[in-house]
Parts: sequence; C-alpha cells; structure tokens
Amino acid sequence: MVDSHIHTEFSSDSEMKLQHGIEHGTKLDIGMTITEHLDLKFPTGTDFTFDIDKYFKDYEKYKSSKLMLGIEIGMQLNCIEENREIINKYPFDYVIGSIHAADGEDIFNPKSYEGKSKSEFFEQYFSSMVDCVKKYDFIDSLGHIDYISRYATYKDNEINYLEFKEYIDEVLKALVHNGKVMEINTRRLKNVEAYKNLVQVYSAYKQIGGKYVTIGSDAHYAEDIGNNFTVASRICQVCDLKPVYFKNRKMEFI
Ligand SMILES: [Zn+2]
Ligand SMILES: [Zn+2]
Repeated sequence: MVDSHIHTEFSSDSEMKLQHGIEHGTKLDIGMTITEHLDLKFPTGTDFTFDIDKYFKDYEKYKSSKLMLGIEIGMQLNCIEENREIINKYPFDYVIGSIHAADGEDIFNPKSYEGKSKSEFFEQYFSSMVDCVKKYDFIDSLGHIDYISRYATYKDNEINYLEFKEYIDEVLKALVHNGKVMEINTRRLKNVEAYKNLVQVYSAYKQIGGKYVTIGSDAHYAEDIGNNFTVASRICQVCDLKPVYFKNRKMEFI
C-alpha cells in the first residue's frame, strides 16, 4: 500500500520529521507520499504556505520508488490561477485538492457554524466543492470529502449521502468527467457512522463511473501513518474501487 496523504514539518500544523515518518513507513512496509499544506488566501487573512524550493532541496534525496513528494492545496475560487502557477512550476508527484474553507468560512473554526443550520452550512460546503472541483483541473485527487464532519458543531456531523445527494453526485460527476480520482481519507474510519456513510458515497462514485481511489491517513505524526488502512481496503472491496497512487503526476496501480 501507499499512504498518499502525510504532513511533515513543512506544513505549519505538523512537526513530524521526515526521518521519523520514513522509519515508521519502513516498519509498516508501505510507500508514502508527503503532501504539505498550501492554503492561499485563507479566510483568516493569512496564506498557509511553505518554502517549496527548500522542500524539494531538502527532501529530493529521499525520493524513491516508496517515497513521493506531493502537495495538498486548499481549493477556493479566489486563488485558482495562483495555485495553477505553483503546481506547474514544481515537479510534484501528486496534487491533492481539498476544501478547507467554504465561501470564505474556515471549516476548522467552530465560530463559522454559529447561527447556521447543518443543512445551510453543509450546502455551502458542498457548493464550494462542486465549483472548485469543476475549475481545479490541475489536481489529481479530491482530499477528504468528509473534512467538515471532523469539525462541524452539530449533533450529527455526517455527510449523509441521501441528504446531500444532489451536491455529492455533482462533485463525483465532475471528478469522473475531469478524469480525477477521490481520496479515501482514513482519519475517521474507526467511527461506525462515518464508515456507513462513506460506503454510500464511494458506492455512488463507482455508480457514476469512478474506478480509482487514493488512500491517505492525513498523518501529522509518524505513528498515524497507515492508520485504518485495512478499513480503507474493505471500502475498496465493498465498492469495487481500485487503490492507486501517483508518481510524476501519473497514476500507478497498487
Ligand atoms: Zn486537508
Ligand atoms: Zn492533510
């Protein structure tokens, strides 16, 4: 397997040393793709960015058949061209496109949910995702479709497929149409409700024509690399999807 979503110390919210990550990955005998955070024009007014030249300079020597260098970009409509330029400029193996902000609201921040019903905020989240997935034609995979479920402040935070079908299907159709894949983010897979809902989402992806998924732990600590990968494999089997990873921006089969 390849863990296609890992943050080391180049990401502002991780202190992981690459060396520790490599030690852990070697112990598990899995490949790894490093995907540092780049969130331009974030609602808080700051760019969450990193020194990409230094990233390649420091990590280039660790690249191998089992270690790839990628990036996770935060997709928003106000920075498409800036992101495109960066992706074109550097030799990334893999690009995750993620929604960390919806219509100028930080999804991580509990204040963003104040005074809004679940359906109101989730619809805002999914419409941003629909718009971005259509326009970000230079990503490889859509990251954590259930990101909002980690931080929303409602009693039920799940992205219930039937409730948001209209939006989710549009996201999935746009991905398939643009030849992009979806990530299975393993962060929430121990949660039974999350698992049940996600199986519905990935089944819909298959129905709509999706064939491939990347699998990523979103690890910010070495010990989290490869977390819940057996559950992710089960989703692949249940939904008949093939796990893949990317090298030199090309899909590779596992
Ligand atoms: Zn993310
Ligand atoms: Zn991430």
